[in-house]
Amino acid sequence: MSQTLISNISQMVTFQGVAKKRGRRPTLQDLGVIENSCIILNGEKIQWVGPKKKLPKLSVQKKIDAKGMVCFPGLIDAHTHLVFGGSREDEFAMRAQGKSYLDIAKSGGGILSTVQSTQSASLKSLIQFGKKRLQYARTLGVTAIEMKSGYGLTVKDELKMLHAIAQLKKTEKTHIVSTFLGAHAFPKNMHQNAYTLLICEKMLPEIGRKKLADFCDVFIDSGFFNLAQTKKILLTAQKNGLHLRIHSDEFKALGGTELAVSFKAKSVDHLIAISKKGVLALKNSDTVATLLPGTSFFLGKPYAPARKLIDAGVVVCFATDFNPGSSTTQNLPFMTTLAMTQMKVTLAEALSGITYNAAKSLGLEQEMGSIEAGKLANLAFFEIPNFKYFPYHYGENFCKLVIWKGKPVVHLA
Ligand SMILES: [Zn+2]
Repeated sequence: MSQTLISNISQMVTFQGVAKKRGRRPTLQDLGVIENSCIILNGEKIQWVGPKKKLPKLSVQKKIDAKGMVCFPGLIDAHTHLVFGGSREDEFAMRAQGKSYLDIAKSGGGILSTVQSTQSASLKSLIQFGKKRLQYARTLGVTAIEMKSGYGLTVKDELKMLHAIAQLKKTEKTHIVSTFLGAHAFPKNMHQNAYTLLICEKMLPEIGRKKLADFCDVFIDSGFFNLAQTKKILLTAQKNGLHLRIHSDEFKALGGTELAVSFKAKSVDHLIAISKKGVLALKNSDTVATLLPGTSFFLGKPYAPARKLIDAGVVVCFATDFNPGSSTTQNLPFMTTLAMTQMKVTLAEALSGITYNAAKSLGLEQEMGSIEAGKLANLAFFEIPNFKYFPYHYGENFCKLVIWKGKPVVHLA
């Protein structure tokens, strides 16, 4: 196996203490920052991490000069809808004139308009859109990303979306987690229970058989899937070998969070309107709360109670929710700024939310999310004076070098 030495790292933020605490209540000390440090990679994995003065003597085949940059574990975006057709700028203008997201959804806009554009897009064009967006995410330091179906809403179109994601998994130099979200909305002209049955009897068995998705997701909320429908879908998904995550409590708490925890879901997402019972269920569980500050920002809505959740001992992560309707950004670093300014979380909590805790949201925390020997060599380097600068100077991209599975995939330094 070939070894690579990365030297001249001004600060390496390892997140080793965060990993030890399995993501609960991370502090500044838990970030495990090592000044003037080096990393030795062995093939796809990290072999050694530490300060330069303790570097073991060895002859390596390859050397990379980090030029005094700050090194983070590769960033992880645990909630996106990255594959879709079309865009919805008209709706954005309508919202600025006072129409609500729910009003627009009821009048046939919202998710259903993206469904139409995605249904009419070819598999090839969906793959092309996906490639471009993934390429951009990589330049920001993202090395792992979750993406969902859910703009197909027919057997054929949901499978088309999952096939597009499967193709991206094969060709792209980013770790991709695939989620089936057939239960994203109800298709026009179909009874809600009939569509739920279609998901359970046709879509999930086929997806399970062909191993076309890692996770199954359900949008449980007012105007979307109810508790009984969600339970049926989660049960069927589990039987078909899929892990679970849900969109819950975005508009109204319907008991989805408690239900997901009882199913041992890896993550519940959104949680703006989470109830006391929901917080209680989460804090006693291993389920991660994936919060999406970009959606609150873009819709001008309240933010999820991150402070309350973290203080209760819930593992909290932050993701972009990148989609064409309610969060049009792929800028994961910006989510840390929003988390700190709008959700009153600390620097350590914000940074853990896009690294270790995001890995845990995807069930990948054994392989990534912190910099330690034995984990995958997924690393992002930023040209900033120190790690605290990362969420402080927002909206600009300082990432200059990204290593994925031991190899540079972005190299601008
Ligand atoms: Zn979403």
